[in-house]
This record gives sequence, structure tokens and C-alpha cells, in this order.
Amino acid sequence: MWLPMTLSIATHDARPGHAHDVSVDTTFDFLNTLDTEDGFPHETLPTLDDALSWFADRGLIHVEGADRARREAAEWPDAAGRDIERVHTVRDALREVADAVVEHRVPRGSALSEVNRALHARQVIELVAGSDGVHVDHRHVGDPVDDALARLSDALVRELTAGEPERIRVCASDTCNWVFYDASRTSRRRWCDMATCGNRAKQARHRARKAEAADPAEPAAPTA
Ligand SMILES: [Zn+2]
Repeated sequence: MWLPMTLSIATHDARPGHAHDVSVDTTFDFLNTLDTEDGFPHETLPTLDDALSWFADRGLIHVEGADRARREAAEWPDAAGRDIERVHTVRDALREVADAVVEHRVPRGSALSEVNRALHARQVIELVAGSDGVHVDHRHVGDPVDDALARLSDALVRELTAGEPERIRVCASDTCNWVFYDASRTSRRRWCDMATCGNRAKQARHRARKAEAADPAEPAAPTA
């Protein structure tokens, strides 16, 4: 495929730790913002304000961009409603793609369209000259929400195309459902977090064994 490329110094943000720092872990953290509590979905990013703070905290957007988006949201609440809806829609679509990878199946076409739309929305990927050669960089050209969603999507796409997608996991705990990246040497991690989910699963198995042991098929007659 022929791609039009110009080698130039872009007007990108050169702040260290900003341009290249979206890892697939951040994308999975984003997917896990739709959490599960007592078996029910629990939304931890219910408003655009929450989402902007979440993006800014992780360096996905600039604080100034978040502030500008907040001012615009106050002025145009309808647009803010559409923005948070888009955040949720893209998150659902990325989750569907991750689930499909884990389950070795084809993702829904609508999810692919949504992720592709997010990838193309605003972000410009281009080659830039660096001190030691050429780099790939992102240029921020528009809406900070679109930009954050593009970068989060991009991290998953990079994992699928150039990473180790077979290490993408969904936590084995029935009550968790988090997506995580298994970076373990043996690639056999089953829980998002051994200290919480893994431990809970262990305790549940332990309790089940104890209950079994304490409840034999023929209960002993009480001696009196
Ligand atoms: Zn878990």
C-alpha cells in the first residue's frame, strides 16, 4: 500500500512522556473503567468531566485541552452529552475487539467500524526527524476527546499488529471481568491481580473444600 509521507518536523507536542506513552495497559485500564460490582456493570466515567480528568491524569490529553473541553461542555451541554456517549461507545467497541481476540473469534463489524472511526477521527500520525533518526509521532489537530480515543485505540491496534495479542486476557474471576495484559514469563496469568482476584478465587476454592469436608453425604447422628 502506498502511503503519502513527508519527512518533516511536525508541530507535535515535544513534551517528554506525552507523545509516545500510551501503552496497551492504559487502553485496558480504560476498558476497565466500566467495572463490575456485585455482578452489575458499574460506570466509573459517568460524565464528560470524569472522562476528561481520566484522560488528563494519564497524559492522553493536555490539561489545557481538558479545560477547554470543559468550558465548551458548559456552553453546549448537548455536545458534551454526545462526547461522553462517544467515549462509552468507543470503549465498548475496543472491549468487543479485545474480547474477540481472547475468544478467538471475529469481532462484530459495528465494533470494528467504531474503532476505525476513532483511529481516523483527529489524530495525525506522521514521521518526524529526531536527533538520532526518524520517529513516528502523533500530531494533535483537534478535539481532545477524539484525540484521546484515537490514542487509546492506536495502542490496541499496535498490540494486535506488532505485539503479542495472545497475551490479552480477561480475568478468570466471575465477579471481575477486567481485561489485562499478561506480561508474565510463563504467560499463564489468569487473574488481573493476584492479590485481589487471584486471592479471592483461592479463598473461594478453600471455602468450598472446607464446606465439602464438613458436609459429608451421611451426616453423623448426634451422640447424646
Ligand atoms: Zn480480576
